[in-house]
Amino acid sequence: MRLTDDRYATERSQFELALRMIRHEARTRTIRECTGLSDDRIRKLYATYFRDTGVTDIRRRRGKSPRQVTRFVKNSDNQLQATTLVALYCNGLLLRVDADNNIAPRWPRPNVEFGHRLCRAYETYLLLHDNACLSFEWAWNLFHSISYNDELYLAACGGCNTRYVQDAYALDNQTCPACDIEAQRR
Ligand SMILES: [Zn+2]
Repeated sequence: MRLTDDRYATERSQFELALRMIRHEARTRTIRECTGLSDDRIRKLYATYFRDTGVTDIRRRRGKSPRQVTRFVKNSDNQLQATTLVALYCNGLLLRVDADNNIAPRWPRPNVEFGHRLCRAYETYLLLHDNACLSFEWAWNLFHSISYNDELYLAACGGCNTRYVQDAYALDNQTCPACDIEAQRR
């Protein structure tokens, strides 16, 4: 009996996460990675809860996640929003930043709890930015891009000493997006 209860609780948690991610228009592959559900079950969930119920403003996204780090740094607005997401990932214990500003993932691999934390971070980001320009898949991409300090890293602002997301291949003038936006207003 206990085994059945546990399995039921696990399935329910997987389904809840899948629905939460479908609402954010996550790709099937991303949903599969976090929930462990098969593509077929994810498609059926979508059909049952969205397509066949007349909820039509949610689009299905297929294929690979977008990959271009320039998206996160192309202007100060995007850079600020990417930085917000990284701060929220740290807050959700998904990422860790050490004393040298190196970032490391705290979760060995995606699972249901990871997925819910990622959703929570993304939903908070949407609340904080009226003009949110990063989709859930971009947020997912950002998480992976910055996790290994490869093409993106955390730079320190010379003006306010805050940390911000920066392109490893761009010249850094030590100005965070918030200070830059502030300077543009003046
Ligand atoms: Zn600054």
